[in-house]
Amino acid sequence: CGIVGYIGHREAYPIVIKGLQRLEYRGYDSAGIALYDGKNIKLSKTKGKVSDLKEKLESDITTNGSLGIGHTRWATHGVPNDVNSHPHYSNSGDLVIIHNGIIENYDSLKKELIKRGYTFTSDTDTEVLVNLIEDVKKNENIKLGKAVQIALNQVVGAYAIAVFDKNKPNEIVVARLGSPLAIGIGEDEFFIASDASPFIEYTKNAIYLEDEEMAIIRRGKGVKVRKIKDDRLVDPYIQELQL
Ligand code: GLU
Repeated sequence: CGIVGYIGHREAYPIVIKGLQRLEYRGYDSAGIALYDGKNIKLSKTKGKVSDLKEKLESDITTNGSLGIGHTRWATHGVPNDVNSHPHYSNSGDLVIIHNGIIENYDSLKKELIKRGYTFTSDTDTEVLVNLIEDVKKNENIKLGKAVQIALNQVVGAYAIAVFDKNKPNEIVVARLGSPLAIGIGEDEFFIASDASPFIEYTKNAIYLEDEEMAIIRRGKGVKVRKIKDDRLVDPYIQELQL
């Protein structure tokens, strides 16, 4: 299973799809991608190989954009099929998430969300998480980063996630606990991946998130890392990657 993301000035699609192929060695049963050009989100996912996803997409690449997230899934909750593949939308259609790991208390969170009117199209724990983030964001009228932080504090489990908000085309929020997540720092562009192999050809500078850290990545601005539990800002160590 793996995660890839890009936000910058180039087309995200080729970077993300190639990155997913580099992460294939980690094992997976499905693959998916979401691309955002600031107006429309193009989301495509399928059971099977990254090459199947590529075939599906390249016959119909109407929306591209310079923000993209991609995922290879190793199913834990819900069988491997197209619907359970990532990315997942929140109920409003505003939030899009990819997730590696397991939300152990997803069942009780899901029951609570259903009581509040949320509906679910997949059997995944991940769709519970994205709607929990949405619920927190709406109820408290706060920004995505803060909502992700509050939601993750209610979660028991393991995760590497990347999530973006349709209303915030210049931002991706990532977080990790128990699953790896690296951020590549380029010139006015940022890369996200489970390991550095998807972005090593673009930049040698990377931040490896520690467990219980999250980062808000803003196009044209930079990366802010904080502790999920105590909200402390972290001065991230930027590592120079060796070839
Ligand atoms: N638990 C999630 C699912 O089953 C993510 C699995 C993964 O790590 O790919 O969809």
